[in-house]
Amino acid sequence: MRAGRDPSEIVLVAAAKTVPPEKVRAAIEAGVNVIGENYVQETKRVKAQIDLPVKWHLIGHLQSNKVKQAVHLFDVVETIDRQSLVKEFQQYASLADKRLELLVQVNLSGELSKSGVKPDEVLPLIETIAHSENLFCSGLMTLPPFFDEPERARHYFSELRELRDRLQPIVPGNVRLQELSMGMSGDFAVAIEEGATLVRIGTALFGPRGAQGS
Ligand SMILES: *Cc1c(COP(=O)(O)O)cnc(C)c1O
Repeated sequence: MRAGRDPSEIVLVAAAKTVPPEKVRAAIEAGVNVIGENYVQETKRVKAQIDLPVKWHLIGHLQSNKVKQAVHLFDVVETIDRQSLVKEFQQYASLADKRLELLVQVNLSGELSKSGVKPDEVLPLIETIAHSENLFCSGLMTLPPFFDEPERARHYFSELRELRDRLQPIVPGNVRLQELSMGMSGDFAVAIEEGATLVRIGTALFGPRGAQGS
């Protein structure tokens, strides 16, 4: 509200890597509707213990040999970063008779340690997704470098929004890039000011990772 946004436009994705299932369940019971997971194996383990109506987003890098499992585990995959991954998702989503929502992960910093495609590789990926019967692209995701000072992340967030605004008129006709997944515990307020529709928050909800038992 402080940013002049309609709160119903912004979805809290509870980033639950390393968080034990009972804490994830408590978050859902407190009103969380979307769980973000980084790893396929961990998701399988947590999901097996949580039978609640909630959506599961993959927010971590995916190896190709895990695509088949990911199709069954996730409602949304936020980390599409290569053409081969789209081809594999189409193959397995078709076999599973499922329609899967994808976001393209964009690397705006050029950091080699971060996944994601360069801005000029986003359009071809969206086109491949749009031409895949069982897939659709709903937007973009980014993970900026870590800064102690959240203001320093702002230009990455505005860049993602501007990229979306430039792409929207030139993507295939039925594609609507309404989602911008950006912002974490330290910088979500800035991300919301810059147009985030999905904020991926772990520490601020669950406490520091590795300290769950305490
Ligand atoms: C862990 C993680 C988050 C959440 O980070 P916090 O700083 O704990 O809020 C968000 N996005 C991705 C991709 C993550 O891996």
